[in-house]
Amino acid sequence: SIVVTGATGRLGRLVLDALLATEPAASLAAVVRDKAKAADLAERGIELRVADYDRPETLAGAFRAGDRVLLVSGSEVGRRVPQHTAVVAAAKAAGVAQLAYTGILGGPEADFVLAGEHKATEAAILASGLPYTFLRNGWYTENYTDNLAPVLAHGAVVANAGDGRVASAARADYAAAAAAVLTGPLDAHLGQAYELNGDVSWSLAEYAAEVAARSGQEITYTNVPAAAHLDILTGAGVPAPFAEILVDVDEAVARGALASRGDDLARLIGRATTPIAETIGAALKANR
Ligand code: NDP
Repeated sequence: SIVVTGATGRLGRLVLDALLATEPAASLAAVVRDKAKAADLAERGIELRVADYDRPETLAGAFRAGDRVLLVSGSEVGRRVPQHTAVVAAAKAAGVAQLAYTGILGGPEADFVLAGEHKATEAAILASGLPYTFLRNGWYTENYTDNLAPVLAHGAVVANAGDGRVASAARADYAAAAAAVLTGPLDAHLGQAYELNGDVSWSLAEYAAEVAARSGQEITYTNVPAAAHLDILTGAGVPAPFAEILVDVDEAVARGALASRGDDLARLIGRATTPIAETIGAALKANR
């Protein structure tokens, strides 16, 4: 089977949508921790395998020999190394034919806090000897557009990213790439590390200008020092540990860590990546 973990998440669902376009539902399996949340997937004919990254004993039933597996990285920052290591061990024990993993743009070179767990996971996969495909995802454009409400309310994009450029793509673009490596000829993708980013790198000033153009509102980019940004975020109620990660990410953006590393994403999906204007437009519509 083609097996997708994190299948009830936003990326996982989009990967299954992309797979269903070319593969019979009966060849697909979804690893989920909450079966009730996956009722719609079962209705579409996708096999459900219930497992929790936190409970290794549940992972034994998640994979079978010969499966092509996508491990969607978990969302619980700080707990992901033991979680992912447990998934890798289960995949190894089952004898899967491919383990694809959604890591971070730059792989071992990514030098910001959030990258640490991805680097450790790639190392665990390499150490396992499993046939792997690394999908090193850059930023989702939605990381920004999901946060349009305060931008529109204050007429400002506030960050400490300086003039750094971000080559983001839509979540659906990354999902299409994952589906491509799980369905294409296996040999073409084994042992590959794809650096996935959008076709166009933009600065936060350009992002603010695009939101302004699309919304008809005046929106400026306000670059502030890291400490000031941290105060603003915690003052707005963002929990300190998460605010620290956001500030660290902006510093990485300022260093160019999330800028383009080439055109692997467009090549894998066989089309241009989604322009940020499109994602901004959709988010504005949803905010109205
Ligand atoms: P979501 O939060 O929508 O989905 C995360 C998925 O992981 C969910 O299906 C969740 O299950 C599952 N999951 C989390 N913990 C466990 C666990 N202990 N056991 C089993 N499943 C678990 O994130 P997205 O789909 O948007 O993104 C996918 C991943 O990409 C994120 O988890 C994160 O690692 C990474 N990411 C990347 C970003 C980028 O810009 N490149 C931005 C944000 C995240 P459930 O549905 O039950 O909650």
